[in-house]
Amino acid sequence: MEILDGKKVSNQIKEEITVEVAQMKERGEKVPHLAAVLVGNDGASLTYVGSKVRSCKKIGFESTLIHLPEETTEEDLLKQVHQLNNDPAIDGYIVQLPLPKHIDEEKVLMAVDPDKDVDGFHPTNFGKMALDMETFISATPFGIMELLKRYKVDTEGKHTVVIGRSHIVGRPISILMSQKGNPGNSTVTLAHSRTKNLKELTLQADIVISALGVPKFLKADMVKDGVTIIDVGITRVPDESKEKGYYITGDVDFENVSKKASYITPVPGGVGPMTIAMLLKNTLLARERHNA
Ligand code: NAD
Repeated sequence: MEILDGKKVSNQIKEEITVEVAQMKERGEKVPHLAAVLVGNDGASLTYVGSKVRSCKKIGFESTLIHLPEETTEEDLLKQVHQLNNDPAIDGYIVQLPLPKHIDEEKVLMAVDPDKDVDGFHPTNFGKMALDMETFISATPFGIMELLKRYKVDTEGKHTVVIGRSHIVGRPISILMSQKGNPGNSTVTLAHSRTKNLKELTLQADIVISALGVPKFLKADMVKDGVTIIDVGITRVPDESKEKGYYITGDVDFENVSKKASYITPVPGGVGPMTIAMLLKNTLLARERHNA
């Protein structure tokens, strides 16, 4: 069994980007600038955004955090989005999800300029991704593909079962894994909450990508020997014995499933860090595309 070490690979990617940014600086070019818009004070969102901004600083990017109060109106948020669209200093930006209930998420994501949409959530970018065109691929599926690539996991002709059909993970990774390419060329089954015979499907899978957000959902008796496991789930489980009052766990019963797996991602330290690295990669690509 080999651990797909997302922390290690994400550090490699960040080092590669750091070198590119240093070269940009030497050439007297503008360095990539990522902005993040956060509305409200959701604990997990604050953590994610904080770590994205810190990563920017470490690798030499410019970064801007726009933290708006919970009661921000949809209109004001849209104004902020338009400002970012029109600000030539900003190469790419993200609007951290989830947004407060009174704001229409779809409307906000639709307002983001696709050329600055480093999260890859805009329909233009999602559509381009589905059509194999150059675009911004959402950071989490992009990170999974990069992890598979760097560990040379063979995906060709394999049966990949994706659990979860969200727009940001399950749906796009099911498309990417089925596309021509390496990684890719997989035969994909996309399972979701209405799937009736999930265990039958996962038992046939050479690769399972789990993105449903239910702690320890995938058990050892649901997978075959030699399976490759990508655990996307991140759930905070309350635990008074921990300093933070919770611990983080994935969708997979790691202790038991890892005994049958040939490759497996840990949580934390698997897909999570890859997501941040690929957001930075997308911001670098945005800068390069704006320069071109
Ligand atoms: P979501 O929460 O929007 O949706 C969950 C999906 O799981 C749905 O499509 C649903 O149909 C499916 N599902 C629910 N119960 C099921 C069941 N019993 N059997 C089969 N399918 C079932 O999905 P999301 O936003 O992709 O998030 C999923 C998990 O991934 C969460 O834990 C989230 O925190 C995590 N996540 C991690 C990263 C990362 O960087 N590692 C990024 C995004 C999301």
